[in-house]
Amino acid sequence: MFVTGDLEIIERKVLRGERLTRADGETLFACNELSWLGALADFVRKKLCGDEVLYNVNCHVNLTNICVSRCKFCAFGRSADDRKAYAMTLDEAVNLVAEASRDPNLVGLHIVSGLHPTWTFENYLAFVETLHAKFPALYVKGFTGVEIQHFADISGLSVEEILRRLKAAGLQAIAGGGAEILTDRVRNLLCPKKCSASQWLNVARTAHKLGLPTNASMLYGHIETFAERVEHLIKLRELQDETGGFRTFICFPFLPKNTALERDIKQTSMFDDLKTIAISRLMLDNFPNIKAYWVMLTVPVAQVALSFGANDIDGTIHRENILHDAGATSPRALAQDDIIKLIRDAGRIPKLVTEAIR
Ligand code: SF4
Repeated sequence: MFVTGDLEIIERKVLRGERLTRADGETLFACNELSWLGALADFVRKKLCGDEVLYNVNCHVNLTNICVSRCKFCAFGRSADDRKAYAMTLDEAVNLVAEASRDPNLVGLHIVSGLHPTWTFENYLAFVETLHAKFPALYVKGFTGVEIQHFADISGLSVEEILRRLKAAGLQAIAGGGAEILTDRVRNLLCPKKCSASQWLNVARTAHKLGLPTNASMLYGHIETFAERVEHLIKLRELQDETGGFRTFICFPFLPKNTALERDIKQTSMFDDLKTIAISRLMLDNFPNIKAYWVMLTVPVAQVALSFGANDIDGTIHRENILHDAGATSPRALAQDDIIKLIRDAGRIPKLVTEAIR
C-alpha cells in the first residue's frame, strides 16, 4: 500500500499485529486515505474473522418511548403528554412477539426503551419474565447500560442486584446502546440526565462479571471531536482487556432529523461512516465483531462497510422504531433472503447466529 510517514508506521504495526496507540488513532482520524484505511481494516477483519458475515433473525421490542432523559440527539424519547407517546402493556408486547414469531426463523428479542417516569424496575422486569416464559426458545437481549443504571437509581438496588434479577428472569445479554461518547464533556452537553461514562462502563464490567455478555456502541457525528472518538474506543478496549465480555461493537452515525440538534448539525457523510468503521476495527483489536448496522448506515453503505472491517450486519429486526423517528431512510425490516443476498453480493458468506449476543 502506498502511504508514507506516520501512516506507513501505522500500517507496519497493523501488519505485525501490534496494538495502535491513542496518537495512532488520532492520526488515522486526521487522514483521508479512505481506500487505504479500508484495505487495512479489511486485512485485520479477514485475519480475525474470515469471510463469514454474521446476521440474525430478530425482533426489536421498544416497550415505551416516554422518557425522562430527553437527550438532545434523540428523536424517540417523548414526554408523557406527547400525542405520539406510548407505553406497551404486557399483552401488547406478547402480541408483538407472537406476530414476529410467525417467522419460523426468529431467534431472539432485542428490548430497549425509554426511561419511563412512573414505571418501577418491577414493571420492566415483568416484561422479561413474561416474554421469556411465553417464548422460551427465543433469546432475550435487552436494556442498555443507561437503562440498567436507571433501574438501580429508581429502585435503590445495586447495579449487580438489578443484573442478577434480570438474569434470573431470563435476560441473556445486555444491549450496547447508551454509550454515546464516553466522555463527561459530551454527556454533560447532550444527555446530562443519563448515566455518566464511568457508570456505563461499570454496568458493562458488572454484567461481564456475572457472565452476561454485552455489546458496545459509539454514537458519532454530533459535537464530539475526533480525539473524543479515540478516547471512547480506548476506554472500551481497556475494559475489554480487563473482562473480555464485549462481543460486538456497533458504530451509530448521528441522525439529526426531529432532534434538538437538527438545525445545527448535518448528517454524517458516507466517507466519515466508512472511515469510522475502519478505524474502529483497527483500534478495537480485542473485539471479535464489528457491526455495520444497516438501519442507520442504509443498506448499501452497510454492504460496502463489509469491506471496511465489518463482519456483522445485524438482523431482520421485524419493525424498527427508534431510528425511524430520527429520519432513518432504510426499511423498517429486512427479509432474511435480502440479508443473505446482500452478504453474498459482497463476496462473503452469510452465517446465521442464534445465540444471545448480536
Ligand atoms: S436516547 Fe434513550 S435515554 Fe435518551 S431520550 Fe432517547 S430513549 Fe431516552
